[in-house]
Amino acid sequence: MRVNVLEYYSEDSWKMMKNEAARHETPCLVVDLNRIREKYSELGEFFPFAKIYYAVKANPAIEVLELLRDLGANFDIASRYELDRVLSLGITPDRISYGNTIKKRADIRYFYEKGVRLFATDSEPDLRNIGKEAPGARVFCRVLTEGSETADWPLSRKFGCHPDMAIDLLMLAKELGLKPAGVSFHVGSQQREIGTWDSAIAKVRYIFDYLLAEGIKPDLINMGGGFPASYIGKTNAMEVYADEITRYLKEDFGDELPEIILEPGRSLVGESGVIASEVVLVSQKSTTGLDRWLYLDVGKFNGLIETWDESIKYPLYCEARGEACEDFIIAGPTCDSQDVMYEYFRNPLPAYIKAGDKVYWLSCGAYTSSYASVEFNGFPPLPVYFVDSAKK
Ligand SMILES: *Cc1c(COP(=O)(O)O)cnc(C)c1O
Repeated sequence: MRVNVLEYYSEDSWKMMKNEAARHETPCLVVDLNRIREKYSELGEFFPFAKIYYAVKANPAIEVLELLRDLGANFDIASRYELDRVLSLGITPDRISYGNTIKKRADIRYFYEKGVRLFATDSEPDLRNIGKEAPGARVFCRVLTEGSETADWPLSRKFGCHPDMAIDLLMLAKELGLKPAGVSFHVGSQQREIGTWDSAIAKVRYIFDYLLAEGIKPDLINMGGGFPASYIGKTNAMEVYADEITRYLKEDFGDELPEIILEPGRSLVGESGVIASEVVLVSQKSTTGLDRWLYLDVGKFNGLIETWDESIKYPLYCEARGEACEDFIIAGPTCDSQDVMYEYFRNPLPAYIKAGDKVYWLSCGAYTSSYASVEFNGFPPLPVYFVDSAKK
């Protein structure tokens, strides 16, 4: 069965994005800002008690940041370059969290000088640097979580520490003159198993209890991202995530919740975009070969890096060319043999597809343009264009 575009976008939105794409050379990403607006207000509705810190790396386009600035969002920032961009848009440092636990001492100083007072950490050397360069700042400690088997793009292992170490670090934070604010976690991006939040929240409860007994009163839980966007493959609705997670929080923390932060990236912007690409070549490796190869002008190095290990399964859409369907091995345009997006996961596409046809990659608003390489094989980074289906 072919992908039905209208399961992913409203008719108006799809029309506007397709028309915009038609005005430009492929490949390009077209983003409907209205979808981000809708997703943002949905989050506010489902998590009325939470503060939203947008994970800028998902889509750092100025247009996206300005929209979220005007909607009142806060921002999760990973580098001084992201910080400069966000500050240049008039976003004040009290709306910014330095969420990267991997940073140079000079970077901490830079953030502090610019007025940022909320820092993530997960190790003693980093915490000591924060103590020296950001005196009096609030720090939260990131803990390791389970759930990498059920997240399509895991963020485990590299970030976070054992809960017992988190306790030690938050006690040390106090000694260093910092404010031990609380705990953060990230259950892995595109997390399909909602129960992973339950065990993460239970760890936070354990840490809070320990610290309270030591006379430290933490007041912040940063639950990170991990909420899904709609690709191929089932996920629960955002409302189900919200209901369950709220229940876990109330079970462990009662009705008087501490300050709750969410850092959505993918779930906020993923469904807002479509990549328009063009078929470069359809070929076969031998006359009796069973598989046909579909080479496109977009690939792993100009926007589709999350097809690595076929992790994210984007829905593909091609305008009808007869009813017959076939699946192809789908690859990108560069001279790198890693530049194959899907060999095992097969999207049904028109059997008579040919060079010059357009193939649309749906739900591509997150982690595409920001992940594109600069000029591998001379291919330029993925250009991004914007429409707003709320303004016709
Ligand atoms: C990438 C990242 C996020 C966003 O995660 P999504 O799964 O895209 O929502 C949130 N917080 C931190 C610290 C991150 O690194």
